[in-house]
Amino acid sequence: MTESFEPGTGRDGVDSYELEFGDQTMTGAERERLVSGRAETAERDDEAALRPKGLADFIGQPKVREQLSLVLDAAKARQKAPDHVLLSGPPGLGKTTLAMIVAHEMNSSLRVTSGPAVQHAGDLAAILSSLEEGEVLFIDEIHRMARAAEEMLYVAMEDFRVDVIVGKGPGATAIPLDLPQFTLVGATTRSGLLPAPLRDRFGFTALLDFYSSADLLTVLQRSARMLGIDSELAGLEEISTRSRGTPRIANRLLRRVRDWAQVRGSGIIDEEAATNALRVYEVDELGLDRLDRSVLQVLCKRFGGGPVGLGTLAVSVGEEADTVETVSEPYLVREGLISRTPRGRVATTAAWNHLKMQIPANYEF
Ligand code: ADP
Repeated sequence: MTESFEPGTGRDGVDSYELEFGDQTMTGAERERLVSGRAETAERDDEAALRPKGLADFIGQPKVREQLSLVLDAAKARQKAPDHVLLSGPPGLGKTTLAMIVAHEMNSSLRVTSGPAVQHAGDLAAILSSLEEGEVLFIDEIHRMARAAEEMLYVAMEDFRVDVIVGKGPGATAIPLDLPQFTLVGATTRSGLLPAPLRDRFGFTALLDFYSSADLLTVLQRSARMLGIDSELAGLEEISTRSRGTPRIANRLLRRVRDWAQVRGSGIIDEEAATNALRVYEVDELGLDRLDRSVLQVLCKRFGGGPVGLGTLAVSVGEEADTVETVSEPYLVREGLISRTPRGRVATTAAWNHLKMQIPANYEF
């Protein structure tokens, strides 16, 4: 049900494996799609190799780093498990990495599961009751956990106890089971969907924001060094400004540019290799990919700039609403290309300009 591993072994707990939940068995591939479809399967080994192991290697997000290091140092000084931690932000910004860092820094092991995998309270009871003192439990996509499991989690987080229900109907009894002190690290791309009682039980909440190009450049320099890739500053800079503020995308683009450099270029990642490779992969100068551009195009061409509801927009680009909302939209909003209004999504002047389209007369947003 969960995967347990020691920190520093290079495993990241998201390999392909089978998960069993009573009558339900999920393959690793299905889980990947449910939990983190945003990371491609082939990337997992590379990602594991590039993941910073300790807080000192974690680039950017200075506030989160400082706050988390205080939480961890205080726990170490008190020789207690740190408070539960909630990590919130779009995919690829380092939530899983931070969960692993918490375990690594506390010198404890990490158990990994995900909201969609916890469909019954019993699934969670089995995980919780097998935890050991000081262990870190990482629940990815925690907002997708079943409601009954959520309620069980409240008690586990606060009182380190689970009530195991034995029997059914009026004869059912709850047998309390004490749990060891553990730390829950929850990750969500949709903190707004978390019920307040669950949110309130986290002692520390970190909101991960998109990275600056300068921080992404540092990520890229580190990755190029670790992967033994020859690069020039201008090449890495070009990649950093087109990575949508996201380390996962920066590392992915680095690998694609390396392909271009090796096959068509000089073998070195220079500006020419970066520009040409990113053209091949349809990543434009703002870092928008095909999905982002389809969203903008549908919004402007088909709906005259909006307002359009999220569901309609998602159907029109042939994607799930969740993907549009958590992957595409946050970046388009941050870049000032669309805005969210109570009536729906609306294209801004920057969006029309980016698509090189004429803004309709009397257009209001
Ligand atoms: P999330 O769980 O938020 O989707 P991950 O933690 O899996 O994101 O991060 C994706 C990849 O990006 C990791 O493999 C790691 O190599 C890289 N990464 C993320 N954050 C950082 C960071 N702050 N510094 C360096 N690399 C990072």
